[in-house]
Amino acid sequence: MSPQFEIPKTQKAAIVEGPDSPLKIVPDHPVRQPKDLAPGECLVRLECTGVCHTDLHARKGDWPLKAKLPLIGGHEGVGTVVAIGEHTQSPPVKLGDRVGIKWLAYSCLDCELCRKGLEQSCPNQQLSGFTTDGTFQQYVVSWTSHVTPIPDALDSYEAASILCAGVTVYRALKYSHTHIGDWVAIPGAGGGLGHLAVQYATAMGLRVLAVDTGAEKRELVKKLGAEAWVDFRESKDIVADIRAATDGQGPHAAIVTAANSSAYAQAVDYLRLGGNLMVVGLPAHASLSADIFFTVTKSISIYGSYVGNRQDAREALDIAARGKVKCYYETRNLDSLLETYESLEKGEIVGRIVLKIRE
Ligand code: NAD
Ligand code: ZN
Repeated sequence: MSPQFEIPKTQKAAIVEGPDSPLKIVPDHPVRQPKDLAPGECLVRLECTGVCHTDLHARKGDWPLKAKLPLIGGHEGVGTVVAIGEHTQSPPVKLGDRVGIKWLAYSCLDCELCRKGLEQSCPNQQLSGFTTDGTFQQYVVSWTSHVTPIPDALDSYEAASILCAGVTVYRALKYSHTHIGDWVAIPGAGGGLGHLAVQYATAMGLRVLAVDTGAEKRELVKKLGAEAWVDFRESKDIVADIRAATDGQGPHAAIVTAANSSAYAQAVDYLRLGGNLMVVGLPAHASLSADIFFTVTKSISIYGSYVGNRQDAREALDIAARGKVKCYYETRNLDSLLETYESLEKGEIVGRIVLKIRE
């Protein structure tokens, strides 16, 4: 017999009404009731959620693509399926399953991009915490086709940030054309995406040069496997320092995970001949400028890398479940979301903040 869940009528949620209105935490936001779910939809009772820098971009409205308003942000949630829309055909999850909510809430699975495994760029997509309400609430509605089963070996709090930060850097590394023993530079290494990138890269046999700032981030990335470190605030010549730390020739690839355009500025200069630049961090109002002559004559490749598809998500979680990658996080309550945004803005968060949703 499938488990029965009591669904409350209202819940606690963090709501943004407009770009200039304050973030409101309300105790009585309506919970979509099971009878009101469309076929294919499910209701997930959340246990916890990570806070990604993307949530801050959404809250500030600083990207060319604008979020829905009013908005409930969040896209790194883990919880339990407590209802499935009536008439859902062979749902891939059942009541009581522990699942993850990631950035890509829905894609059509039938367009050219979906068929080619690039479902994250599907023109019919829905994005959690951006075009559909996300995980900064107790009950979230998502699609049975796109929620991700969480491996038993993985604690929910450890799984949360793998669902965005982990999947994203795992995929960027997977397509970086690097091989065991190659050097990879990770600007933003002490942040949410970056500290996971250090570990996935190390697990892949790559040699990591971490770029970020401050003693706490330096200690963390070294503990996680980085062989070399450059502090972007202290370095007088970042290109020379990065090259010097990577056999004098520069890294074979750079996975830029900083939300600051300055982290992109020198990448083409410091990359080794034949190097690959993986564009991941999404600074506001930024464009990528690269010297055309050297991009060509150094045979540099530049790739945009956008989260990951459902297979990337499963792979990233499995690697974490086998203990190769561990999210370094601090737990806070939903009430401290505003404070968390302020610390993210200042670059003060080492690793990730995971919010406790189920009390
Ligand atoms: P974060 O704030 O946790 O980490 C960013 C890190 O970059 C911080 O540690 C900061 O100190 C560091 N940094 C700032 N300027 C730097 C510089 N010049 N050189 C080196 N490091 C620098 O943020 P996060 O949650 O890891 O997200 C990072 C960015 O990635 C955001 O823009 C976010 O929107 C984006 N993102 C992209 C994807 C994607 O699919 N491509 C997915 C998730 C997040
Ligand atoms: Zn994210």
